[in-house]
Amino acid sequence: MIVLKTSRELAAMRDAGRIAQRALRLAGEAVEPGVSTWELDRIARRYIEEQGAVPTFLGYGGFPASSCISVNNVVIHGIPGKGTLLKEGDIVSIDIGATYEGFVGDNAWTFPCGKVSEEAQALMDTTRESLFAAIKAAQPGARLGDVGSTVQRYVEARGYSVVRDFVGHGVGAKMHEDPSVPNYGTPGRGVRLLPGMTIAIEPMINAGTHAVKVLPDGWTTVTADGKLSAHFEHTVAITADGPVILTLPD
Ligand code: MG
Repeated sequence: MIVLKTSRELAAMRDAGRIAQRALRLAGEAVEPGVSTWELDRIARRYIEEQGAVPTFLGYGGFPASSCISVNNVVIHGIPGKGTLLKEGDIVSIDIGATYEGFVGDNAWTFPCGKVSEEAQALMDTTRESLFAAIKAAQPGARLGDVGSTVQRYVEARGYSVVRDFVGHGVGAKMHEDPSVPNYGTPGRGVRLLPGMTIAIEPMINAGTHAVKVLPDGWTTVTADGKLSAHFEHTVAITADGPVILTLPD
């Protein structure tokens, strides 16, 4: 069931989104060689809790941290660890949710650690651009296939592949609501977007094959071929005036 939000609920979601975005930026600013992913998680968690919010991911399905931090060939759901130290040239995807006054903001960004290869930079740029192209496609009256196909066409034209096993999602009082928001699809197909819908659009884009596998810890999801992956995400409201990003810093 897709839950449409009132303008008052959208305002609350904007507050949650602001906290999630600021936590993401703080963690991202701390990305540098030698820093552990555990430290990045600590920074994010402290900020979220200082705001009177709750880290949405902590304990979700048993997840042991406040953020997912996924380095290089890790696609999503990397578990922060004191032993995972960043190196020059890594690409670091950080995914953070904050719950505030009953609503969730969910966002992700891939940060370079020091100087990265041209290939890594191009993957990050393309993935980020595909997110913003998809947001622009999320107009009232459009369909989810318009959103997903926008990502798919943008990245496949540049030689990358779209992860199929994981998709974006509706978001609101719960982190995962209907509908599913794939990063692939057929224009003109799928659920019609209506004002009041709130969705997390989150392209997960691989340099090589789209295939992924989940490691025995049950979370860490890596590319099947060991190549790089990038991930960018915003929580977006569909309004009568068009899409509005809720995970902005102010
Ligand atoms: Mg999400």
